[in-house]
Amino acid sequence: MQNYDVVIIGAGSGGASAAMYAAKNGLRVALIEEDKWGGTTIHCGSIHARMLQKHAKIVYEVKKASEWGFEISVFDLDYERLRNRMQSTAIAQTNKLYTMLQEVGVTCIQGTATIDEQLIVHVESEGFQATNLIIATGSQPLIPEILGLESVDYLTTNTIYELEELPKKLTIIGGGLTAVETAFSLAPLGTEVTIIEKNEDILIDEDPEIRYQLKKQLAQLDVMMQVNQQITEVTPEHIMIEDLLISHDQVFIACGRQARTEIADFLALKKQQEGTIFVNEFFQTSQPKIYAIGQVCNSRQFSKTAYSNGIVAVNHILQKPAKETNDVLVRSLNTIPDVASFGLTEEQAIQAYGDNVTSIKLPIHYAVDGLIEDYTKCILKLIVHKEFDEIIGAMAIGEYALQVIEQIAMIVRLEGSLEEALAYIDVELGNYMQQRKIV
Ligand SMILES: Cc1cc2nc3c(=O)[nH]c(=O)nc-3n(C[C@H](O)[C@H](O)[C@H](O)COP(=O)(O)OP(=O)(O)OC[C@H]3O[C@@H](n4cnc5c(N)ncnc54)[C@H](O)[C@@H]3O)c2cc1C
Repeated sequence: MQNYDVVIIGAGSGGASAAMYAAKNGLRVALIEEDKWGGTTIHCGSIHARMLQKHAKIVYEVKKASEWGFEISVFDLDYERLRNRMQSTAIAQTNKLYTMLQEVGVTCIQGTATIDEQLIVHVESEGFQATNLIIATGSQPLIPEILGLESVDYLTTNTIYELEELPKKLTIIGGGLTAVETAFSLAPLGTEVTIIEKNEDILIDEDPEIRYQLKKQLAQLDVMMQVNQQITEVTPEHIMIEDLLISHDQVFIACGRQARTEIADFLALKKQQEGTIFVNEFFQTSQPKIYAIGQVCNSRQFSKTAYSNGIVAVNHILQKPAKETNDVLVRSLNTIPDVASFGLTEEQAIQAYGDNVTSIKLPIHYAVDGLIEDYTKCILKLIVHKEFDEIIGAMAIGEYALQVIEQIAMIVRLEGSLEEALAYIDVELGNYMQQRKIV
């Protein structure tokens, strides 16, 4: 039996960074991974999504070049090269991660971890005794029950980037972020995409402005959006919705992901309503020596969240100040145009604070850039708590959306006032000649 200060199960964004941080702080750490080192982010998440999106953006930019007087006609995408690039980036990142873990002294163990009643972790015949256990087992694709689905070789968020060739006709079941990002990546590369959503609209949790702009752009890319639809049956060739038959050569299930709670279930750890593991502010579960971090305890799908959860948990084990100090998490979408946001949407803010909420909408022209290109580079919307005079949410859509939102988020993190943020926007983002629309 081997003894460790911390045994961590799962080497994704959460587990790997917690392991590295714990080892750098002098703890004896074992990290167990049953599949690929680096988890979702490196093998089927943001790296692949961004790389595919980069190719789509090249097509988009080249098409736009005709507005500047270039006559260019393309395209013959060598998908094999794109795929090789995705795979070699993932392999390089995995190798780098594995080397870094070993350099800081983490014991890396390949295999599926199970646990017994004495809290001994097992990988095949080996046993590991842990003073503290961190569960970082992430999530897996949620597969809905649909008649005929078992007869279809469908893609999921784990396998979409393993495609050997670009599908000619792809039907996406689900109309959330992953579905929309995938449509934005594949449609410009020549795939005919149909999205089927059971709610009354796609991107139902997004700000209406974002939804409107992205839907407009998807329609321009000839992406079909079937909303408010119940699928009656799926076959290898078709999907049936009410009286419509939609043909496909690939089906992609993008209905969200669910926490992998096998270990938590065995230990009968308390869970939250949504199925994730219940944790306190230090990421302790209902058993204080067992922590849970990342997507297994958090439905927010961010690698940054998993990373920062791990640091808080390890700091708590180290008896260092531990709480997450800031909740201004910036997220960005791989879409055309770019979208970025943080905090509450207007709808969420009104639900939480009622009449105390107002929003300010303003175009960002980036001064000279805006004049040269003669269009608004970006729309920024700030959600403001009137009584506290605080920005409680922000979203931007258009060129540089992420940079704009990062800058506003930094002001909020530093507890800057609304006036300071607006002054910054006026001067630094070249918006001094624009009218603000208070909604
Ligand atoms: C398509 C897609 C795009 C995304 N894009 C973004 C993005 O742009 N930005 C962003 O911030 N986030 C993005 N995310 C979300 C991000 O990838 C996750 O939030 C993050 O990976 C969660 O990290 P984690 O450590 O909790 O889990 P994971 O990275 O999933 O790691 C969990 C690990 O645990 C292992 N494991 C599970 N059970 C066991 C066991 N019993 N024994 C041993 N090992 C086990 C698994 O094999 C896995 O490697 C995306 C996700 C997807 C699917």
